[in-house]
Amino acid sequence: MSPVTRAELEALDARDPLAPFRERFDLPDGVIYLDGNSLGALPRPTAKRVQELVTREWGQDLIRSWNVHGWIDLPRRVGAKIARLIGAAPDEVVVCDSTSINLFKVLAAALRLRPERRVILSDTGNFPTDLYMAQGLVELLGQQHEVRIVDERDVLNAIDDQVAVVMLTQVNYRTGYLHDMAAITRRAHERGALVIWDLAHSAGALPVDLNGCGVDFAVGCGYKYLNGGPGAPAFLFVAKKWQAHVRSPLWGWLGHAEPFAFELTYRPADGIGRFLCGTPPVLSMAALEVGVDFLLEADIEAVRHKSQLLGHHFIALADQELVPFGFEVTSPRDPNRRGSQVSLRHPEGYPMVQALISRGIIGDFRAPDILRFGLAPLYVRYVDVWETVMALREIVETRAWDRPEFRRRAKVT
Ligand SMILES: *Cc1c(COP(=O)(O)O)cnc(C)c1O
Repeated sequence: MSPVTRAELEALDARDPLAPFRERFDLPDGVIYLDGNSLGALPRPTAKRVQELVTREWGQDLIRSWNVHGWIDLPRRVGAKIARLIGAAPDEVVVCDSTSINLFKVLAAALRLRPERRVILSDTGNFPTDLYMAQGLVELLGQQHEVRIVDERDVLNAIDDQVAVVMLTQVNYRTGYLHDMAAITRRAHERGALVIWDLAHSAGALPVDLNGCGVDFAVGCGYKYLNGGPGAPAFLFVAKKWQAHVRSPLWGWLGHAEPFAFELTYRPADGIGRFLCGTPPVLSMAALEVGVDFLLEADIEAVRHKSQLLGHHFIALADQELVPFGFEVTSPRDPNRRGSQVSLRHPEGYPMVQALISRGIIGDFRAPDILRFGLAPLYVRYVDVWETVMALREIVETRAWDRPEFRRRAKVT
């Protein structure tokens, strides 16, 4: 293979149809931001939207805003928009709570649809909070269930007729491995199991087709590729065919059929609304809506195309420049099995990432030895891939990473 050159990457930027989006994010000058898979960048209109919400809607219109400015409809309105990104119908998605809480709600609901089965199947590549929430639910339900965790390549074969629910994150947060949603969902259904997909690293990064795959339940994150801001509310999906048959385990008043009747006894709302719980975080919802609108404006197929090309060039350059220095590429090389990130392994990964950050190239580190680079196509340029790999190579060649301040572990890595 011919070596990757900077000129080649510049040429890709010059004809990139998504390039104009970068200017619409408020990124600091000189920063290369490769952590959009952990906290998406700030869309420029977000500050103005939140400002207007605070000063006019909250400050001036006060409580009337729940009706006049439609605050009360935000969970469904933003949910309906996210639905378009993930192959769902508008009344199958609501925005609420956190990914962890939403996972708990849909897992409890799913288990009750399979009362005779005892296994929740997941994989070692799942994000720990998903596993913890499942383990906590199992304890709450009296330890009658088992959370069975298998290697991600063994999931398909591990789905047997004891499995109640297959609970997976579509894209592995460490390696970027992308599960075959269609095949796993099909197998689960053949064996009588239900599926829950966590879209934390796929919504907004690649086209997802929940209904095309016949998915039962899904959850996802607002602050990663959807650019909703720190702690943005999450979303959940319940397929229409299940909506009348399931209960949320958390019976909040906004999930009641008539919240403002203030009845003493819970009655679930029709449809997806029964998965709402308490009052929506209006400021955060409004910020999330701006991020979602950006993605709706961009063609998600174009987003995926660019993401795959960014990943391809990152890996090719890493092979060329970094593998000789002891790095290993842990992300799948097959672009159809890779999400929107590239991960490298190196035993000194932590201080190396800190050295990169000190130069304005922001990636992150995942224990024990993974350097992780998120490739959010709305604001990452092809040349950023070049700059990153070359900077890392220089850091390694000069041992610039080998300094005590780079070894000090922060609370958040
Ligand atoms: C980021 C992420 C979460 C985050 O959950 P929170 O409740 O928002 O903290 C959950 N699951 C997966 C797979 C993630 O990647």
